[in-house]
Amino acid sequence: MARLILHNVCKQFSEQRVINNLNLSIEPGSFVALLGPSGCGKSTILRMLAGFEPVSSGEIRHGERCLSSEQQHVPTEARNFGMVFQSYALWPHMTVAENVGYPLKIKKIKGVEKEQRIKDALSVVELEDYANRLPSQLSGGQRQRVALARSLVTEPDVVLFDEPLANLDRHLRATMEATFRAFHKRTKATIVYVTHDQSEAMSLADHIAVLHKGQLVQWATPEELYNTPKNTWLANFIGRGS
Ligand code: ADP
Ligand code: MG
Repeated sequence: MARLILHNVCKQFSEQRVINNLNLSIEPGSFVALLGPSGCGKSTILRMLAGFEPVSSGEIRHGERCLSSEQQHVPTEARNFGMVFQSYALWPHMTVAENVGYPLKIKKIKGVEKEQRIKDALSVVELEDYANRLPSQLSGGQRQRVALARSLVTEPDVVLFDEPLANLDRHLRATMEATFRAFHKRTKATIVYVTHDQSEAMSLADHIAVLHKGQLVQWATPEELYNTPKNTWLANFIGRGS
């Protein structure tokens, strides 16, 4: 297990600088939230971690391995990262087990090992009994759990989540938070979890990176963030401003 490091990462789209000199060092096995208002650059950071976007300058490293710099770009499929995005599209014509097992095909994992991996992944999200159903026969929350199972079936070192609960109602969000905790406990993967919802970040993460206009405002535990927000903007953002 290796540390995930962003060193002076900048991202520019034509004239617009979207991420400005970002430095983060994420301990293996930790649950980190990237928190900030809409448009602050959270998804862009996640897309660079996933390998969908190169960095404009700076470097992303996973342990000793350089994933992205001006000279180098390791493609998504060579990173062994799991991903769940807001639109967690499942294949409608495939069963739950087939959807979950799909990433194994790309990794050429077959037979007994494939069956066992699917079973394990479904047990983490408590959907062992739903393996043969189609997505249309599931509730929204169950579909989201299938997407979670699919993201962990390859046993990734790092799992990236982009606002995975944004489309769910409040009741379901609370249930899903418990699922995320169980997921983290079971997989021991490093989790980078993007959200604009401070209560979600506070309740799930062990460390939070607060971002504003492409810059890191504060890196802290939920408790530190709540007790000592670094500036007035942040105090207001987390609901502690007067
Ligand atoms: P967040 O996820 O925090 O809402 P994003 O990372 O999606 O923020 O976007 C940050 C900024 O980057 C926004 O101003 C957005 O318009 C811009 N942006 C994101 N992706 C692109 C792109 N492919 N081309 C141009 N601008 C982009
Ligand atoms: Mg976003």
